[in-house]
Amino acid sequence: MERTLSIIKPDGVKRNILGDIIGRFEKHGLRVAAIKKIWMSKEEAKGFYIVHKDRPFYDSLTDFMSEGPIVVMVLEGDNAIAKNREIMGATNPANAAEGTIRKDFAENVERNIVHGSDATETAAFEIGYFFSSLEIL
Ligand code: ADP
Ligand code: MG
Repeated sequence: MERTLSIIKPDGVKRNILGDIIGRFEKHGLRVAAIKKIWMSKEEAKGFYIVHKDRPFYDSLTDFMSEGPIVVMVLEGDNAIAKNREIMGATNPANAAEGTIRKDFAENVERNIVHGSDATETAAFEIGYFFSSLEIL
């Protein structure tokens, strides 16, 4: 059993497709162990994406992630980190496989609907960024 952090980004929330996205996770055997809707400040978005601080897209990405509400979730299941990323599809929707969330909904490489942790250590940091242990059930 593994846990990963999933975010439905501001573009996904605006398009009113939370149910579709969460349904895909559930259909693939992942379980929602924690969930809430929040609106990050620019500073909070910068803290979340601190690993990307030297990337050219850091400023634009953190503007995007703080432009409106997001839904943050802890997903739980066998191989949850890799499975979530498979369901999401490649970062750039142009390269995403058929049937993935990003292929079906993402506008471009930045506005790509969902986030998912990429490794055990990043999942632990990202889950702890939004949730206390008492909120994960
Ligand atoms: P992923 O979300 O697939 O793990 P990364 O960790 O590489 O991708 O990047 C984090 C986020 O930054 C992406 O989901 C996307 O929103 C944005 N991003 C990544 N690459 C670019 C890029 N070349 N131009 C603009 N935004 C980008
Ligand atoms: Mg990443």
